[in-house]
Amino acid sequence: MSDRIACPECEGRKGLRIGDLFLSCQFCGGLGWVGDTNEPAERSGTPPAGPSPVWQHRVWSDPYVASQLDCRYCLGSRHLTSIDEEAGTMRTISCVCAPSP
Ligand SMILES: [Zn+2]
Ligand SMILES: [Zn+2]
Repeated sequence: MSDRIACPECEGRKGLRIGDLFLSCQFCGGLGWVGDTNEPAERSGTPPAGPSPVWQHRVWSDPYVASQLDCRYCLGSRHLTSIDEEAGTMRTISCVCAPSP
């Protein structure tokens, strides 16, 4: 246990907002802070809940790959799809890289 600090991944923003989609931070679990009772480093015994967000994948450290795809969020499709499991709906929005209408 340690003092609460703003999450180093999302800097306390709890995640990443793209348009009207909100992708919660996987490091702090969407709380915006770590430490106290929310200590990612102390969860080392349990496997991560899921794979890293695609834009944080280590493939992006390869300059060739990064230069071939113009957008790491939508991979060039200009759209992002979000599935709301609770509501049972799927929404598609324009990606941040798409030209504004
Ligand atoms: Zn975070
Ligand atoms: Zn994009």
